[in-house]
Amino acid sequence: MKKDTLLTHAGRDPGKYEGMVNTPVFRTSTVIFPDLASYETRQPDDYKSVRYGRYGTPTTFALEEAVAKMEGGHAAVAVPSGLAAITAALSAFVKSGDHLLVSDSVYSPTRNFCSARLAPNGVEIEYFDPLIGGAIKNLVRPNTRAVFCETPGSLTFEMQDIPAIAAAAHAHGLPVLADNTWGTPYFFRSFERGVDVSIHAATKYIVGHSDVMMGIIVTNEKCWLPVRRAVADFGFSVSPEDCYLALRGFRTIGVRMKQQMANALRIAKWLQARPEVLSVLYPALETDPGHAIWKRDFDGAASLFAMVLRPVSDKAVAALVNSLQLFGIGSSWGGYESLITVAHIEKHRTATRWAPGGPTLRLHIGLEDPDDLIADLERGFGALRAAGLSSGK
Ligand SMILES: *Cc1c(COP(=O)(O)O)cnc(C)c1O
Repeated sequence: MKKDTLLTHAGRDPGKYEGMVNTPVFRTSTVIFPDLASYETRQPDDYKSVRYGRYGTPTTFALEEAVAKMEGGHAAVAVPSGLAAITAALSAFVKSGDHLLVSDSVYSPTRNFCSARLAPNGVEIEYFDPLIGGAIKNLVRPNTRAVFCETPGSLTFEMQDIPAIAAAAHAHGLPVLADNTWGTPYFFRSFERGVDVSIHAATKYIVGHSDVMMGIIVTNEKCWLPVRRAVADFGFSVSPEDCYLALRGFRTIGVRMKQQMANALRIAKWLQARPEVLSVLYPALETDPGHAIWKRDFDGAASLFAMVLRPVSDKAVAALVNSLQLFGIGSSWGGYESLITVAHIEKHRTATRWAPGGPTLRLHIGLEDPDDLIADLERGFGALRAAGLSSGK
């Protein structure tokens, strides 16, 4: 099956539910067994059958199966947020005395979990240059237990060479965990590139409509039980309504992302030609340093990128952002609507220096008509100039 067909058909079975196209919302805590023997012999380690609400219902399993199949993984588990997916997945692999390699480009709450929760419990965290590639082998120690990547970094957009990192990690028996929120199961079939555990903030493109918080962890066969057990140990459970909405959103991820990518490319190219803009950080652009890796490994690009402005005052940046009428100012991305935030990246790097040369704004491009978005940004640049504080151009 080609991937759009898979996206339409995976994780549903109308024959099971009186012909209904979608798996209905099943609400339950308790599941009743026919006799004591079947209750007492219910498979505690299988995690694929209905036995108690916390472990999922047919609605949960439908979503998990669709996402796992789309990405080419063995199985998936839904958790209450993207950050919960990161913390559960990391906890499955490291304990006191272990060493963990983490990309310097990770989402800052990932870094916070490492320093606030893992390090005080005896896990040694070492951040590595996202561009390290196969040289990561030089950082592996006898007590290294996992490598955590995020490609591209969701603020700096540096592409990581996942196949090279995975080859080095696997040579030492180490699993590669990757935050694949930007790539999504639709545009980055991470298991074919060597990822062992793929982590999604489903809140973003999978849900796609800015109305549900959720995380999904997809794993290969070897990592499935360690990860699934960690999720069970933390007691994470998601509501069937949220799973229903996430799967409803996921069915259209292909058309949404293809359109959003086209819109984003058009706007990114327009921005590249603006005198106020120093650079645009977007691997889908041919001029981007990560373009070759992106082209080799990905089927498409998320509509999230950054622009670096020529040096201007904070006031001028605020004037630009505040004058926009179509771009919302707020966290998150992956919905149908456009967003903008200022990225303060310098604070979040320790292994490498990040000095892009000017203020960095992150844009998420939605499904609006790009002409209207361009007009909005033009208004923003007008406000920046009117702030009378621009310099260096
Ligand atoms: C948003 C985000 C997360 C966290 O997801 P939540 O659902 O907000 O907890 C993790 N990784 C990346 C790259 C993100 O952008």
